[in-house]
Amino acid sequence: MKNCYALLLLLCALVFTSFKGDHEDRARLKAIEKIKQEGFTNSKVMETLFQLTDVTGPRLTGSTGMKKAEQWARRQLEDWGLENAAIEPWGGFGKGWETHKSYVAMSAPYYQQLIAVPKAWTPGTNGLIKAQAVLIRVDSPQDMEKYKGKLRGKIVVYATTNAYELRVNFNADAKRLTDEELQKNTYDTHLDDAGANPNPYIKAPAGRRVNTLRPKLDSFLMDEGALAVLSGGRGIDGTVFTSNGASRAWNAKPVLPEMEMGAEHMDRLIRLLDAGKEVSLEMDMDNTFLTADSIENNVVAEIPGTDLKDEVVLLGAHMDSWHAATGATDNGTGSAVVMEAIRILKATGLKPRRTIRVILWSGEEQGLLGSRAYVKKHYGDKDTRKFKAAYEKVSAYYNLDNGGARSVASLCKAMMK
Ligand SMILES: [Zn+2]
Repeated sequence: MKNCYALLLLLCALVFTSFKGDHEDRARLKAIEKIKQEGFTNSKVMETLFQLTDVTGPRLTGSTGMKKAEQWARRQLEDWGLENAAIEPWGGFGKGWETHKSYVAMSAPYYQQLIAVPKAWTPGTNGLIKAQAVLIRVDSPQDMEKYKGKLRGKIVVYATTNAYELRVNFNADAKRLTDEELQKNTYDTHLDDAGANPNPYIKAPAGRRVNTLRPKLDSFLMDEGALAVLSGGRGIDGTVFTSNGASRAWNAKPVLPEMEMGAEHMDRLIRLLDAGKEVSLEMDMDNTFLTADSIENNVVAEIPGTDLKDEVVLLGAHMDSWHAATGATDNGTGSAVVMEAIRILKATGLKPRRTIRVILWSGEEQGLLGSRAYVKKHYGDKDTRKFKAAYEKVSAYYNLDNGGARSVASLCKAMMK
């Protein structure tokens, strides 16, 4: 399937790059044939995805894993014969962070290992800690008062999942679209959710209220001498979506070690603690801050064009992920597809008129930071609207960050208009 995405992307790119000659149509057809041949008979896309995910592992921006992925991707692009393969640094990210070990379990009233992952940019526990669990429900600064003096030496179970409504799901995880729906998705650039399964389990909480409260709660928990925090993560059926639990800024305020837990286990702890049962927890988390510098990188490589080489067609995907898994769908697939697209084109020996450049971004999950830095450096400042000469030479930009869905087809359509 991913072969198809890479091929579609290339066919789209060809519309812009086009080839010179008296019989342009015939040349194009021949080019398309070559691309199809290379994509279908010599695909490397699954090997690329394997290297990015299973082999490299999590690629949180600022972690060793992401740096490894950058080195590997640059080398691989160069090995495929692409030119100007480079790791291009950008600055101002803040501290790096990675986790080397994480474990949490309930040790009383019985032993049960719990599904939870560290929140990024929170500190480790300095070895195994064992403590009584205390449930807190904090929806406003005033709610903190009732826990004053009760948290010293305890592990805090922060009942955030009560903001979610867990419901029984009667929908299949995926559904087959009709021909009409597929047609509509292919040509509609403002996609609706016809193909998606709106998650029936979870009603999103009032996120903003929670966010403004968290820094206050973090300071309170530190001051009260609590040992660590367990909070509820987004996700169901044992899946936990993770994120950051603290700032990566150099002057960030200290916070407690924190893990976020699957909804089912969080709910069990809440039920036990609400019923007045004594719950003991043990937790061991080894997290490291990487403080050498604030520098992160994008990976760039290209096929220089011929007579229109100053004009550039960009293919991009963010290579960074979160730390709890290998980020296959977000966005290993997108990265593998754009790499495969440019590999195919290079392997065919075709000579595009315009330069085709692939860029693998970092810092996307923290706010499109790598791509913003690249644009600012090469193309101009979006705030002042002052653009550099190179900005005018960008013919098209194709971004993939959809986890293997339908946006390539949409991009093709958007380009044809
Ligand atoms: Zn993404």
